[in-house]
Amino acid sequence: MRADVFEALAAQDRPASAYDIAEAVGNRRGKRVAANSVYRILDLFVRTNLANRVESANAYLANTHPGCRHDCIFLICDDCGQATHIDDDALTGALRRAGEAAGFTDVRPVVELRGICQECSA
Ligand SMILES: [Zn+2]
Ligand SMILES: [Zn+2]
Repeated sequence: MRADVFEALAAQDRPASAYDIAEAVGNRRGKRVAANSVYRILDLFVRTNLANRVESANAYLANTHPGCRHDCIFLICDDCGQATHIDDDALTGALRRAGEAAGFTDVRPVVELRGICQECSA
């Protein structure tokens, strides 16, 4: 099941919801798959750095650099929904420190930019 979920996630060309993934896995297996169990697996992938969650889209993406831990900054297109990401450790590090200075521990920056992608604005 985990392998099927990961394969379905990796095949998406834009952030996919747990429901999208459940449908893709269900189609492959020829039987319905509960979104809840897919959601739990996606959550596990996020915790183990295999996937990223795009909070503002309530969706998931396969992590393109599972070997390193960045606070990825996602850019999401309002038009087509595709997401791209940049890593700027100076920027997210500053946010992290600001959070810690305000007394928070285990600070996890969630930085997302919305806009119109190059293809849609062309
Ligand atoms: Zn990244
Ligand atoms: Zn677009």
